[in-house]
Amino acid sequence: MAIDNTTLTPLGQKPLLLDADISMCSDTKAMNGHSDVVFGHVATQNSSLYESMLLWRKVSGSIPAPMETWLMQRGLSSLDMRLERMVNNAMLIADYLSQHDKTLSIRYPGLVDDPSHAIACKQMQHFGFVISFDLGSKINAELFLNNTQLIYEATSFGGMHTMAERRARWGTDDLPEGLIRLSVGCENPQDIIADISQALNFI
Ligand SMILES: *Cc1c(COP(=O)(O)O)cnc(C)c1O
Repeated sequence: MAIDNTTLTPLGQKPLLLDADISMCSDTKAMNGHSDVVFGHVATQNSSLYESMLLWRKVSGSIPAPMETWLMQRGLSSLDMRLERMVNNAMLIADYLSQHDKTLSIRYPGLVDDPSHAIACKQMQHFGFVISFDLGSKINAELFLNNTQLIYEATSFGGMHTMAERRARWGTDDLPEGLIRLSVGCENPQDIIADISQALNFI
């Protein structure tokens, strides 16, 4: 079994200790955290899987360059601190959004009534920094995104800055038209909530 651990990072969940054969992570996201490098890693405790992945990496030539490696190391050095801030911010924002009358539904594993709360408590070290919420329609979601001033509209996530996207814009996944994916950053939480609040007033 292979697990994509990108949204939690190894500080938030340890798939190999939960019996996964392979844990992979896009380090482009929170691991680097500064939205300036494309990186990734794969982890396994199985030596034959490890050997074949090492060979694949060698043959395909996907070896990181010195500049990217340096940027990644800089990013990693603040991972624990960034995550603590992002996860605390995400909890405050999820609480705020879950009580807002423009929010049709919300998913964040830190919310006690979220369907994933129990399993998250059991196997995750933190609840992560990604929230999804439904504003009911494409037009509402676009009004929200067009009127935020602090929050960036971006498809990537896990950076220092709070980022949001209407996922259904890609037309590839079967998702509600008004669904926003919010990646909560390291800003002051009151500033993020104030921005969300004023943007929701446009709906
Ligand atoms: C972004 C992402 C990827 C792709 O990673 P890149 O580093 O951008 O190539 C894979 N899996 C998940 C869950 C992601 O969020």
